[in-house]
Amino acid sequence: MTNPSAPKWATVSLNETPDDRFHRALLDNVHPPAWRNPKPADKYTLIVIGAGPGGLTAASEAVALGAKVALIERDLIGGDRLNVGCVPSKAIIRTARLYAEMRDANNFGGQVPSNIGIDFAAIMERMRRIQAHLGRGASAPQLSEAGVDVYFGEARFAGRDTVSVAGETLRFRKALIATGARAMTPPIPGLAEAGYLTNENVFNLTECPPRLLVMGGGPLGCELAQAFCRFGAHVIIAQNDPTFLPNEERDAAQVLSDALARDGVEIHLNTSAVAVRMEGARKIVDLASEDNKFSVSVDEILAGIGRAPNVENLNLEAAGVRYDTHIGIRVDDFLRTSNPRIYAAGDVCLEHKFTHTAEASARIAVRNALMLGRKRLSALTIPWCTYTDPEIAHVGLYVREAREQAIPVKTFTILMHDVDRAVTDGEEEGFVKIHVRDGTDRILGATVVASHAGEMINGLSLAINCGIGLRALARVIHTYPTQAEAIKMAADAYDRTRMTPTLKSLTRRWLAW
Ligand SMILES: Cc1cc2nc3c(=O)[nH]c(=O)nc-3n(C[C@H](O)[C@H](O)[C@H](O)COP(=O)(O)OP(=O)(O)OC[C@H]3O[C@@H](n4cnc5c(N)ncnc54)[C@H](O)[C@@H]3O)c2cc1C
Repeated sequence: MTNPSAPKWATVSLNETPDDRFHRALLDNVHPPAWRNPKPADKYTLIVIGAGPGGLTAASEAVALGAKVALIERDLIGGDRLNVGCVPSKAIIRTARLYAEMRDANNFGGQVPSNIGIDFAAIMERMRRIQAHLGRGASAPQLSEAGVDVYFGEARFAGRDTVSVAGETLRFRKALIATGARAMTPPIPGLAEAGYLTNENVFNLTECPPRLLVMGGGPLGCELAQAFCRFGAHVIIAQNDPTFLPNEERDAAQVLSDALARDGVEIHLNTSAVAVRMEGARKIVDLASEDNKFSVSVDEILAGIGRAPNVENLNLEAAGVRYDTHIGIRVDDFLRTSNPRIYAAGDVCLEHKFTHTAEASARIAVRNALMLGRKRLSALTIPWCTYTDPEIAHVGLYVREAREQAIPVKTFTILMHDVDRAVTDGEEEGFVKIHVRDGTDRILGATVVASHAGEMINGLSLAINCGIGLRALARVIHTYPTQAEAIKMAADAYDRTRMTPTLKSLTRRWLAW
């Protein structure tokens, strides 16, 4: 439906997803319009609140173990991952990468017109088609068929072992809170009145804003700044830290900064938005750095300044569950809350807010809750990736963390421009850096900056998880030519350090003989 007060470039109200056949197909699975909640069981073995990746994993695992399970969702099954996070962002990032490849086609001998057209509405329609396709894996009817009692409605604890939803009170032996997180609201005067985008409505756009300010240079801000810039928006990014992705290694963040600048993103580091006002349809944002104050005029503002856990409205006090509005639900290493019947998993309680972490933590919580398990969150090896171009992926310890723990570190670095396949692909930007405990081949951590770093990091994750050292990796035959060979090259570099001067001189003598 068209909103008459929307600015000229926006043809749809930002609070509504365009109502096309793909969106309707998605809803048929993730929130069927005619859904009727089931008749409650006397007592559930497990009630799961929230049907994002954490809740869905927990419900499927518990049903597979033979538990009687209720799953409660207030909005759309699939949570942020499917509806307003990973899936829509990665779908549009793919098109943005295609655009960049067409833009750079002449480097490869291709000939494309200099003014490549972008059909933004078609990009977003493709995104919705993909969501509808992947929504089949988050289907209420299928969950129900598998034995999960699916309830739509806002869940609230009514006591230490009861939850109310849509007028019913459900009793449980164990419960899992997997209510996720939402975009943090930036406390900037005038912003709420001017209106702004978050991940919850940016994917509803049907036209690309001509000028876009992105507040925040974390993964979300950087990924979407690059994508919208490639779609033709003039993107300004303001990051209040001296680098993007402040947790990543400096040189990784620098590669990203250079890549964004090359794409044409206007970068302001050490800079915060301090006030917003409207001038006609334009949003005027006052920005301030240590030594400078200036204003930018934009059509839209995208806030990507962090995530706040969804702990409100759950009546956690009635259940005796301790929480913090910034950190989320308080859990121990076994993911148990202050009420021993209740566990939590995913974004609502974890520092690392990723789909794979939500799923892994949900698996741990279910085992511990239902099977007297003693699985620990701290035992997990968690990789992550920012899906910019190039991608920035990490697993294990950073050098600074190793130093803080007084662990001696030796780093082996391979630049992607020394890797044959990266050169043939014209994707020479970036590096593979592997940190080992000095004097050993034990991998402590790794950072990969490369076109497909998210794929490459998994090999290193596997090595850390299974205790495979660099010496063993040096003996793994990698297919030639692949970008993942960079990992083998780093392992070979380690192997060469094992050649002590005595060993070298012995070999030399042996060869001479
Ligand atoms: C733009 C963006 C891009 C992202 N990209 C990636 C990526 O590439 N890779 C990656 O690993 N992660 C990514 N993430 C993060 C990822 O989406 C989340 O970490 C993941 O969805 C968390 O899963 P969850 O189950 O903990 O919570 P959620 O997915 O947030 O699900 C929680 C569910 O609980 C429901 N709920 C909340 N309160 C209640 C209540 N009281 N009653 C009933 N239901 C309730 C919500 O409606 C929601 O459906 C991205 C996030 C964003 C925003």
